[in-house]
Amino acid sequence: MKLNTEITYLSGVGPKKAELLQKELNIFYFKDLLYYFPYKYIDRSKFYKINEVSSTSSHIQIRGKIVRFESIGPARKQRFVAYFTDGSQTIELVWFKGIKWVKERLKPGIEYVVFGKPSIFNKKLNFIHPDIEIYKKDQFIELKLEPYYSTTEKLKNNFLTSKAIQKLQLTLLKVLSNDLNESLPDYLTSKLKLLDLKKALINIHFPENNQLLERAVFRLKFEELFIIQLNLLKTKNLRQSKVKGFVFPKVGAYLNTFYEQNLPFELTNAQKRVVKEIRQDIGAGRQMNRLLQGDVGSGKTLVGLMSMLIALDNNFQTCLMAPTEILANQHFVSVSKFLKNLGVTIQLLTGSTRKAQREKIHAALLSGELQILIGTHALIEDVVQFKNLGLVVIDEQHRFGVAQRAKLWNKNSQPPHILVMTATPIPRTLAMTIYGDLDVSVIDELPPGRKAIQTKHLYDSKRLELFGFLKRQINEGRQIYIVYPLISESEKLDYKDLSDGYESIVRAFPMPEYHVSIVHGKMKAKDKELEMQRFVKGETNIMVATTVIEVGVDVPNASVMVIESAERFGLSQLHQLRGRVGRGANQSYCVLMTSFKLSAEGRKRIETMVQTTDGFEIAEADLKLRGPGDLGGTKQSGIAFDLKIASLGKDSQILQYARDIAVSIIERDPLLTAPPNAGLNKRIELEFKTEIDWGIIS
Ligand code: ADP
Ligand code: MG
Repeated sequence: MKLNTEITYLSGVGPKKAELLQKELNIFYFKDLLYYFPYKYIDRSKFYKINEVSSTSSHIQIRGKIVRFESIGPARKQRFVAYFTDGSQTIELVWFKGIKWVKERLKPGIEYVVFGKPSIFNKKLNFIHPDIEIYKKDQFIELKLEPYYSTTEKLKNNFLTSKAIQKLQLTLLKVLSNDLNESLPDYLTSKLKLLDLKKALINIHFPENNQLLERAVFRLKFEELFIIQLNLLKTKNLRQSKVKGFVFPKVGAYLNTFYEQNLPFELTNAQKRVVKEIRQDIGAGRQMNRLLQGDVGSGKTLVGLMSMLIALDNNFQTCLMAPTEILANQHFVSVSKFLKNLGVTIQLLTGSTRKAQREKIHAALLSGELQILIGTHALIEDVVQFKNLGLVVIDEQHRFGVAQRAKLWNKNSQPPHILVMTATPIPRTLAMTIYGDLDVSVIDELPPGRKAIQTKHLYDSKRLELFGFLKRQINEGRQIYIVYPLISESEKLDYKDLSDGYESIVRAFPMPEYHVSIVHGKMKAKDKELEMQRFVKGETNIMVATTVIEVGVDVPNASVMVIESAERFGLSQLHQLRGRVGRGANQSYCVLMTSFKLSAEGRKRIETMVQTTDGFEIAEADLKLRGPGDLGGTKQSGIAFDLKIASLGKDSQILQYARDIAVSIIERDPLLTAPPNAGLNKRIELEFKTEIDWGIIS
């Protein structure tokens, strides 16, 4: 197929330019160039008369002939002027550079199109360094809205300007004019009144008018999002049709006793609703793949625990996996406390578990004697085998890679139910795309009685005031986090920031009155753990750290989170960090320290943090500011996010529409086997390699 021809074979490209296009723009084949769309258009449908032109006009074009040339000024500061007329009036075209080129190319008497922004020079209206080309009507496409393509310095230096790319696109469209076959089934294009593919592709590069451009953009965005949704829904169906789930029909003594005797508080309504959703899944005979979203502190762990107890009530084993040792430890301690006197066997397995203990655990898992295993990545190792693993709970999932999760799925011949918990709120549109094949539950309510964290933005110059405030908090018995950014490219620099910061903190908070811990990525795991524990036990007042503390740590007595160079953190990261405080009964605070120099975006992030503590609101703001690139889970999600035209941030309406259409198709034809859908099915298989790939489910 011509679309898969290497770009070097396009007339006007050649090996050198091909290499540049590959390196700079990821354009390898004809189809890549075809789907390299303009970022803006400028109206060139109208030729202005020179006597209509004024210095306030924007970019415009005129058509006419050069009457004569003149070189003005001394040799070194020469400017070159062409007097240009269209019959209505004469105007000056002026060059200060590239004069030789202009002299050689331009001739009087030929009809040219001049394009540029008029300005005033020497009180006369003129065009400085305008675009100028011979006027000719292209037979194939008439330029009305001129497309502009983004390029790079490297490309421009090698004559691959926007204009050059435009020419290549024109060549390409001519070459491909018989190959742009419709890619969506007729019943869809006609029902949805979509522009056909060929017309859409021609009009996105060379729009005939604004209305056709709009329809082209819609058609291409729709198609891009629709195909992703269709694939997700089909994958989900495929999985459900092939994989049977364990049935947990009953709620028994474990859950009931826990609920009646050990649970120290009322569940929130949101928790109750989610537990119900989970029970419906695991009682029904289909394998559960559920994502549980809820802000930090919303009580996800408890919901996870109750699901685990249902597994026990049905004679299955279960495990809870956390991304760090600290967190696994905390879960082990709190779960053991919650399950006191229930007669449940629980063990902890992490990288630091001793060999003898490890072997005991392995044996107890195989015999079925061990009911609940809590741990880190250590759970995934092949030597860890269960007798009958029925349910897996994964905490803070965005920390786990795809491959690691996939291994857990395969611990049984029949896959266990999976509950993935994440505290990184994901906007609906994004969740629909990343987790479109998962069921999603949301805890959108915090347990009662929590005091909202107060957030304040301070410039670095107010550091003394900050220290005063911290001392008062410490005197009241509270503990404090101070976090420094860590960005891997400049690890050295960051480490310097951190150690300088640590020194100034120790100077301001001297021993023996104050005790300061420090934790950073360069420390050995054991030392990190030790320092963390000192803080957890309350032996130190201040924890100076890089973002290693981001995930899950629970120190209810900590009441202040100070974030240094806060402008260097992303919104979701700031939100995660802030979630480390406000876990106890005391009023908590988050202080965002920045320099005076803030980018517009940095300022917006800080403002958002000060204004709201709602994780979903923050996630929406984040998506708008940055696009989805780095939001929780996207990188590991296994779905390529190189959307060519749609934007998850801006096109949520089209996304919803595409999803609805995909749902209606899948409802009638779950595995896309009906003849009209054959083309779609083939395309999905090619693009996404659909199979039951456990990796992409969370
Ligand atoms: P998450 O994992 O969602 O961040 P946790 O499950 O760690 O939140 O819960 C945070 C704290 O709130 C824990 O100390 C937990 O025991 C407590 N908690 C959970 N649910 C409730 C509730 N319904 N009422 C009161 N406290 C709760
Ligand atoms: Mg948690």
